[in-house]
Amino acid sequence: MKALVYPTWDTLEIRQVPAPTPGPGEVVLRVAAVGICGSELEAVASRSPRRTPPLVMGHEFCGEVAEVGAGVWEAKAGDRVVASSIIPCGRCADCRSGATHLCPDRQVFGMNRPGAFAERVAVPASILLPLPERVGPLEGALVEPRRRPTTRRPSSCPSRADPGDLGRHRYFTSTWPFIAGCRPQM
Ligand SMILES: [Zn+2]
Ligand SMILES: [Zn+2]
Repeated sequence: MKALVYPTWDTLEIRQVPAPTPGPGEVVLRVAAVGICGSELEAVASRSPRRTPPLVMGHEFCGEVAEVGAGVWEAKAGDRVVASSIIPCGRCADCRSGATHLCPDRQVFGMNRPGAFAERVAVPASILLPLPERVGPLEGALVEPRRRPTTRRPSSCPSRADPGDLGRHRYFTSTWPFIAGCRPQM
């Protein structure tokens, strides 16, 4: 597949790279749209140690499920979805309190796992949300930057729910109003 690769400092180039395959609990998305985050521009410009080459960046994205790994019940091939940029561990105290963005063991697309500046990207099914038909891919790719300032667990969230449920609940409550009304600035 084609990917925008960050192979070494000060270099970005489109290359052919091996396509991902879904691990257990993962899906592979056919990327529909991906945003370019200011943090990524800054990372390349400043040779940031947080994003060291070789790397495929891209953490603001949506797409269609192309392949489904073992044990996935949250999504099926053909589903249109948006993914969180962060993959929390789901087990630590921060995750269990709903502050998944503070998880010390979190992974971030395009930082410590391959991102979505590519035709396909592997994503844990637990961090996906369905994208309604009326929401286009450009709006879908904007869900991640819009949700990031909202990190507080809603009071309606039951404390005994498991961390995956907590994360999903928070994600829904913080992003759905945005999905209902956002438009990209062209
Ligand atoms: Zn970003
Ligand atoms: Zn955690």
